[in-house]
Amino acid sequence: MAADTILDINNIEVVYNKTIQVLRGLSLSVERGRIVTLLGSNGAGKSTTLKAVSSLLTLENGAVTSGSIRFDGEDIARATPHGLVRRGLFHVMEGRRIFEDLTVEENLTAATFALSGRGLKPTAFDLVYQYFPRLYERRQGRAGYLSGGEQQMLAIGRALIAQPSLILLDEPSLGLSPILVEEIFSIIASINRDTGVSMLLVEQNAAVAFAVAHYGYIMESGKIVLDGPTERLVRDEDVREFYLGMS
Ligand code: ATP
Repeated sequence: MAADTILDINNIEVVYNKTIQVLRGLSLSVERGRIVTLLGSNGAGKSTTLKAVSSLLTLENGAVTSGSIRFDGEDIARATPHGLVRRGLFHVMEGRRIFEDLTVEENLTAATFALSGRGLKPTAFDLVYQYFPRLYERRQGRAGYLSGGEQQMLAIGRALIAQPSLILLDEPSLGLSPILVEEIFSIIASINRDTGVSMLLVEQNAAVAFAVAHYGYIMESGKIVLDGPTERLVRDEDVREFYLGMS
């Protein structure tokens, strides 16, 4: 594993309910400071891959049955989801899991649990509001009343408060209008540039994912079938036909 690799998934297999095998020897890595995208059709196993990394599989009766996952050089097979958050790995789940009954600001405050001994930077909330001015305007409002796009912003804002070294992002474009998708992805790129946080981005929308990611992996039926720097992938004929809708 290279010294600057923050996440290294090596040949993992994942099984749900002890019977349904979903990942079949999947390997991928994320270099520190980079945005890496994981693409694939519905049901290929993208969300499962993220849940394997953040130790959330057990909540769904799933398990990594072979292979290894290393975060920041350490094997995380036995880590708990909370332990991983405290170590700097933050998973922004599909469907924006926010606390709907709490205000926007309370949602952000709740994410400080992840800091453990690291201490909140005095500028952390300002930084979130700088990226997402709309959250500032609505900071005293109930999060459940936010629009879908604003909820996605809040979910990413919570990740920023936690000051992680790696963010797992599951389909941030889901259900958003094209204009909002563009806005959110441009902010994702700025966050990566400004803070140096590494990101593993799962997406269905290949065009926007390629626009921000440095490197991409394409998976089918539980394993990687193609990978490369995004500037190379966008020139690949199969990728253009099947993922970008061009010929
Ligand atoms: P999508 O883009 O539709 O979200 P995905 O690539 O993220 O798809 P996963 O959600 O990882 O795919 O699902 C991969 C396969 O695992 C699917 O066939 C799905 O039905 C199955 N699966 C996912 N979660 C569970 C579970 N908790 N129990 C059993 N099977 C599951």
